[in-house]
Amino acid sequence: MPFLKEQFGNPSSIYHLGRGAREAVENSRETVADFLGCRHSEIVFTGSGTEADNLAVKGVAWSCANKGKHVLTSSVEHHAVLHACRSLEKQGFEVTYLPVDGYGKVDPERLRSAIRNDTVLISITHGNNEVGTVQPIEKIGVIAREHGIFFHTDAVQSFGQIPTCVTELRCDLLSLSAHKIYGPKGVGALYVRRGCRLAPLLDGGGQEKNRRSGTENVAGIVGLGKAVDLAKRQRDIGQIDRIQKLRDYLAAGLERSIPEVRLNGHPSDRLPNNLNYSVRYLEGEGMLLELDLKDICASSGSACTSGSLEPSHVLMAMGVTHEWAHGTIRFTLGKGNTAGEINTVLEVFPPIIERLRSLRTRESASPKKAKRNSGVRVGN
Ligand SMILES: *Cc1c(COP(=O)(O)O)cnc(C)c1O
Repeated sequence: MPFLKEQFGNPSSIYHLGRGAREAVENSRETVADFLGCRHSEIVFTGSGTEADNLAVKGVAWSCANKGKHVLTSSVEHHAVLHACRSLEKQGFEVTYLPVDGYGKVDPERLRSAIRNDTVLISITHGNNEVGTVQPIEKIGVIAREHGIFFHTDAVQSFGQIPTCVTELRCDLLSLSAHKIYGPKGVGALYVRRGCRLAPLLDGGGQEKNRRSGTENVAGIVGLGKAVDLAKRQRDIGQIDRIQKLRDYLAAGLERSIPEVRLNGHPSDRLPNNLNYSVRYLEGEGMLLELDLKDICASSGSACTSGSLEPSHVLMAMGVTHEWAHGTIRFTLGKGNTAGEINTVLEVFPPIIERLRSLRTRESASPKKAKRNSGVRVGN
């Protein structure tokens, strides 16, 4: 609040009113840099995780275009990376979308063999936002460095959940976003290793050392720094372990009480807060609506594409059949969740599934009626 009121000065100004704002931005930069184990000069604040991904992918590709025009990524990236790559393709770049295994993992050796003389960037997400699978980023980082190729990882989901020290991950660029760790929406950051070439997305006043023009979102940046501080404290008092135990308890309960349910994503190399299930014979939306009536907030696939009935590109790339992919539901746990809430889900969800499945069987038994009732039935 002070940065929307008393400390309203422009951080790039000379007059004293801007000085407090400048200091606050720089403190935030130090906090984020400490958390990632890098120098503060290597942090660029952006307007979102999406912008950080775009800046990394397009910024490196554009600045290296004289060296080569090939980019390596995976088929399970967030749309912020995937669509940035599609946009590069329209500009004459070539992109290889690496396949993944049934758990959604990229094979580092397969990646190695896809490297070409003109490859200038590798971009692979750290922790998948839909199925939670954690990629072998360190191994990919070693390969990228051996070949002298810049390596970006989208760590928007993993940041604050699992270690994201940039020297351990061996990445040159890393994206993060404040709102995924309880910070404000509309602010993110990109780690850019010293010496990494990067063309800006925005031209203007040259803020953020010419890497991101535009007057800094001081309140947002301060909020990001504060969120990182709090995330660190929460982690140190065992919050992540607590959430993971709750998650495992929920998983065991669901798997015990629901027939024909499958976990999507890797069983152990997985973000500690994520569960993603396919429930056979059902539609994700139907389950979500029923759960919402009980005040349980879950999602199908990714939050960005829910509302579309297209099956998730992540599940398709993992080889999940349409039949299973349509019945997908994701539970993401957070610091506010309690054991009592998990018990509520375990009481409420299995009967919902049983009822939806019995409706479905009845409908398919009488085709005429099925047509009339083809919408999702909600309520009693
Ligand atoms: C949420 C998310 C983004 C986008 O971040 P925004 O700040 O919402 O733009 C990018 N990548 C992943 C993996 C995400 O989960």
